[in-house]
Amino acid sequence: MLEAIRTVLRKLPNDVGLFAYGRCVFISIGLGSFGMTLPGRISSHLVDRRTRNMWLIILDERVPDDEVQGTIAHEIAHAWLKHDQISIDIPETCEVDAALLTKSWGFTGKGTDPDYCDRPYRQLHESNNVKS
Ligand SMILES: [Zn+2]
Repeated sequence: MLEAIRTVLRKLPNDVGLFAYGRCVFISIGLGSFGMTLPGRISSHLVDRRTRNMWLIILDERVPDDEVQGTIAHEIAHAWLKHDQISIDIPETCEVDAALLTKSWGFTGKGTDPDYCDRPYRQLHESNNVKS
C-alpha cells in the first residue's frame, strides 16, 4: 500500500501532491469498503500536531491492484475538496465531484466513475424518500 500511495502522490498535479504530502495522513486497515476520508479534527499533523485542514485517509489493504491508485486518488480528492464526511454540510454531489476530479487527474477505475461512487448515496436517498 505504501508504494501505491507514493506512486499516486507522484502522479498528482504538483499543488495537489504537495497538499497530500503535508495535509493527509494515510492509514491502512482491513475495512469492508475501499476507502474513506475524514476531517482533521479527528487526526493531526505528525510533527506540529495541527488539526486544521488535516485529513485522515483510511484505506483497505484488500483493494484490487487495478483499483488501488484510483481509490487513493479519489480519497485525496475528497480531502482536496474539503469534503467533511462527518458533517451535515457535506455537498450532495461530493461523490460525483471527487470521482470527476480524480478522473481529471488521469486516474482510472471505480474511483473515477461518478455513477459507481454515487450509487450508495442515491440508494440511501431513495430509501429515505420511500419511508417518508
Ligand atoms: Zn468517495
